[in-house]
Amino acid sequence: MGDWFQTVVDLDATDEEAPALGDRVLARLVAEGIVEAARTDCVLGGGGYGYPPGPHYAKAVEDPAPVDLWTNGLAVATGRTVFDSGQGDVAAAVCPLCEGDIRLVDETWQPIDDAWDPFAGTFDDWIEGGEGLVTCPACTRASSIERWTWEDDYFACGRLGFTFWNWAELTPAFVRDLGHQLGGHRTVLLQGKL
Ligand SMILES: [Zn+2]
Repeated sequence: MGDWFQTVVDLDATDEEAPALGDRVLARLVAEGIVEAARTDCVLGGGGYGYPPGPHYAKAVEDPAPVDLWTNGLAVATGRTVFDSGQGDVAAAVCPLCEGDIRLVDETWQPIDDAWDPFAGTFDDWIEGGEGLVTCPACTRASSIERWTWEDDYFACGRLGFTFWNWAELTPAFVRDLGHQLGGHRTVLLQGKL
């Protein structure tokens, strides 16, 4: 038994706009009754405080049964964050410039240590405000870690993310609508377990 989560990450929000955008979208989710306005200790991470499901929670999910778990809230993260999918290993990274596929695990799903060399320190550099440049082993060009994509969307670099703890699967319509509320920004949906 673990706690299952889904995170919608805004890939386009800037450092400057992320906090206000997060507040605006949250206000809309409260107004629609998807979550409650008052924070409680209902999420993991981020200090443990989040927004519990609201009276119309069922509109957002495929299965309308209430979440009968202590961890059942929405956590909103703003500021540079490397969102991840929790357990398991990421299988591959894809260069944004050549679309080359960098394998990160072998046939038995063991991490290939050397394959991580180009990425060493880049997540930390990016979180601290740097570019986090990765030099692609395939095309030898450098690009920011935030532009790389990961197999099964294992990681996503963003300044704004909405993590729903133990909610049933979010409906595609709800995720799409969240993207509209984010001003049409590109989003990615991470799913995982802790
Ligand atoms: Zn490349």
